[in-house]
Amino acid sequence: MHAAYTSQMPRTARSLPIYSGAPVDTLQRPLRDVRLSVTDRCNFRCSYCMPAEIFGPDFAFLPRAELLTFEELALVARELVALGARTLRITGGEPLVRRDLEQLVALLRALDASEALSGEPLDIALTTNGSLLAKLAAPLRAAGLNRITVSLDSLSPATFTRMSGSALPLESVLEGIAAATAAGFSGIKLNAVIRRGVNDADVPALATFAREGGHTLRLIEYMDVGSSNGWRLDEVVPASEILAQLHARYPLEALAPSRPGEVANRYRYLDRRGEIGLIASVSAPFCGDCTRARVSADGQLYTCLFASEGSDLKRYLRPVPDAAALRDALHARWSARDDRYSEIRDAETANRLPKVEMFRVGG
Ligand code: SAM
Ligand code: SF4
Ligand code: SF4
Repeated sequence: MHAAYTSQMPRTARSLPIYSGAPVDTLQRPLRDVRLSVTDRCNFRCSYCMPAEIFGPDFAFLPRAELLTFEELALVARELVALGARTLRITGGEPLVRRDLEQLVALLRALDASEALSGEPLDIALTTNGSLLAKLAAPLRAAGLNRITVSLDSLSPATFTRMSGSALPLESVLEGIAAATAAGFSGIKLNAVIRRGVNDADVPALATFAREGGHTLRLIEYMDVGSSNGWRLDEVVPASEILAQLHARYPLEALAPSRPGEVANRYRYLDRRGEIGLIASVSAPFCGDCTRARVSADGQLYTCLFASEGSDLKRYLRPVPDAAALRDALHARWSARDDRYSEIRDAETANRLPKVEMFRVGG
């Protein structure tokens, strides 16, 4: 076996420049990345996120009136950009079940004119399960979306269905990925959550598919997010094990992070046919460099994926928006942030704390 992959690259989020007027948190981490959830609904029932037994036909999702409008989301994004955010990722639930999503993309793209950016365009990305992407990829690109991540856990129809809990076929996701490529998206990322005994044998096939399509595969350790998925440590396949399995098929070497604060450990195929990312949030936490904020579809701000409570932003938006008060509240919340859940996780905290569900705040 080739040993090239073993070196770990340092992460350096604390070395990021601090923009004028922008806060750092209590661990000196600036704000850079924002996840904007546009819905808590989804047309899949992934066992690791929204198990069908719990999220059945009677489950009470957010009423429409509780969802932030696109204008409200864009206002929140504008203030977060003023405080340092440079990547805006649209997520959910499944973001493509929200109608006219391209209108939100256009509003976010218009933020490029913000004074805080000095002409540097925002990175506007989408995470989707891909099943509705075939028709939407082109309009989203035209509206100003510049990056897409598609979640794809298996290329075996049976395993895909077992993971997605949906009647929608694997083919719908593959068509979505093809449409995104045809619409001009390059460097599409494919996210696969790996669960021991379910799809861990699928990693080489996913890698082959990604290499052939020019996509970047990102292999994600199964996380103890939320309180519904019955997470167990023995179902987590550590990134080191996934890497060794893949390295045996396609030799790899470690790469430096593409930017400070990057969550994936990057590796390049030695034959230079692309790269992969491993997200080792359980076995090798990266809280020290976490520059992310998350806004739920009903306007709660979460400063950690594992938080129990958010801060209500809607009170600064309704009945009339108060942008100055919103910015002050965001500044104060980020300045007080001390989250480092993954670094202090143990078997007890993993199953004890009430935690926000992943489908409310995106991945
Ligand atoms: N519905 C969209 C999708 O699936 O891409 C966006 C929202 S989904 C919550 C965002 C990401 O979170 C997906 O890539 C999904 O695989 C990941 N995810 C959900 N639950 C997870 C878990 N328990 N552990 C690791 N990743 C998870
Ligand atoms: Fe839906 Fe995404 Fe959660 Fe799967 S991971 S249930 S596609 S929100
Ligand atoms: Fe960031 Fe919280 Fe994840 Fe740590 S556990 S990396 S603070 S979201």
